[in-house]
Amino acid sequence: MTGERRLAGVAAAPGVARGPWAHVRRDRPVGGRIAAGDAPAEEQRLRDASNAAADALMALSEQVEAAGHADEAAIFMAHATLAWDPALIETAVARIHERGEDGIAAIVAAGADAAAGLAALDDELLAARAPDVVDVAERIARVLAGIPEEADLLPGRAIVAAEDLSPSLTATLPREHMLGIALEAGSPTAHAAILARAYGIPAVVGVPGLLAALAGPGGESPAAELALDGSTGEVVLDPSGATAADLDGRASRLAEARSHDLEEASLSAATRDGVEVTLLANIGTPAEAAPARALGARGVGLFRTEFLFLERAAPPTESEQAAAYAEAVSAFGGDPVTIRLLDIGGDKPIPYLPMPHEDNPFLGVRALRLALDRPDLFLTQLRACHRAALSGRVKVMAPMVADAGDAALLLDLDRQALEGLALDGVAHGPVELGVMLEIPSAILAADAYFGSIAFASLGTNDLTQYTLAVDRGNPSLERYRDALHPAVLRLIAMAVESADRAGTALSVCGEMAGDPVAALALVGLGVRQLSMGAASLPAVRRAIRGAHAGALAAEGRAALSDPSAAAVRARFARLAAAC
Ligand code: PEP
Ligand code: MG
Repeated sequence: MTGERRLAGVAAAPGVARGPWAHVRRDRPVGGRIAAGDAPAEEQRLRDASNAAADALMALSEQVEAAGHADEAAIFMAHATLAWDPALIETAVARIHERGEDGIAAIVAAGADAAAGLAALDDELLAARAPDVVDVAERIARVLAGIPEEADLLPGRAIVAAEDLSPSLTATLPREHMLGIALEAGSPTAHAAILARAYGIPAVVGVPGLLAALAGPGGESPAAELALDGSTGEVVLDPSGATAADLDGRASRLAEARSHDLEEASLSAATRDGVEVTLLANIGTPAEAAPARALGARGVGLFRTEFLFLERAAPPTESEQAAAYAEAVSAFGGDPVTIRLLDIGGDKPIPYLPMPHEDNPFLGVRALRLALDRPDLFLTQLRACHRAALSGRVKVMAPMVADAGDAALLLDLDRQALEGLALDGVAHGPVELGVMLEIPSAILAADAYFGSIAFASLGTNDLTQYTLAVDRGNPSLERYRDALHPAVLRLIAMAVESADRAGTALSVCGEMAGDPVAALALVGLGVRQLSMGAASLPAVRRAIRGAHAGALAAEGRAALSDPSAAAVRARFARLAAAC
């Protein structure tokens, strides 16, 4: 009897991890409204919460000081002062009385307003305090919501165990401490999983019962160690000696494979019969550009820029964005870097852009749809892209384009950005403009606007979500979620035909492109550019080099009439195995 317990989840980011675990949780409090007569009581609740947050911060400051960290102690003391700051608290109190917001909504909004005011100041020291105000306002909101405070979410090296992780939390937890990620919820196409792959952190998601099992169900003691294999979805609590040895063996084989992958990076991704496929990388920060190039990426097919906008009090400035984009562009020499305009909403909320509650955020004011209310955000970003174009080849694409009207909106925003740059005398270069194809209507109506854009990229994560009505973050829908569904393939085939007719370049940048079996299907359907998390490049390159494009095309045509995603997967898995 070893005491080992096994759970099964969904493989989300390759790699093996074994070690201590930490339950990481930082729920974002949800604000609401109050009835008119409740305002005085709500005001009192807010004042009590502000006092409690300040007390807790003072205690934390003393504790940190006693441990010999005077600098950190000073930061927490300054935060305690902010939690009592009359300007912040009285603004929130006024919102409770005048707008009928509850304490949570009022303090979060007051914090965001104060932070935006600070960030706009020319005084760099004051502007740098903006994130602190947001932080403190959220702390008070967590007290109001009864959400326990975690002094330090991940103090040492551990496997992160959580119900789910927001993209911002995944992006900001100390990477050097994250041995792996195991989530009860989530799916491989949720943004936490995408980030894990980008950072090379092994991850398993959709593990039912994980947290209860770790805590020790039915009076058992909590697990001392957690292990996971992010390629198979296996999760093991307190692995036996034999299991631990097996997992460690897998980890060292992976390390060997990685050095082999780097050796193969210069090989082209051409099929046996000479059809060349361009492999590109998906990145979320400029720092990922150089490692992606080392693995053989011939450019960036998707630079998810929203991660620059997370965990801060105000949007990044034009210069800040231009510098970040130029860094990625320079890392790729003359190869193109495709910058995607801000895609927020859905599972990517942003603190300083409070959005009204939506019953269906994935069907709501997300991504480019926000440009009607906040054109400034997109104009700034487009100006930054044109400035980055001085460093190399830049492509810019708009997310969540639905039809010709949205494509025209992109062109119009770009025209305005260019006019502004010219008027201000700011040096800039040309960019190619394109759209993401992730809403079925954008493909069904493609012939109406493809002629006006230079390129299009299939975002198969959302395309699958919207075509099959499968929430991309819901693990209980796993059996419905496979981008190889014939309905999705038909849309992809239509996109290829429209692109050929209009002479528009077409790529795929959804997670599907990084799955070797699905990548073969895409080549079979006529796609010639695939963009993926850098870690997937070697396996996809090997699959393509082993395949015959003629055979893939025949299977691609046949797959359109297959009865299920499983049948399509089996069809291309056979070809992949034969390579
Ligand atoms: C997609 O939807 O396929 C995509 C690439 O965009 P994101 O995953 O960032 O929504
Ligand atoms: Mg998308």
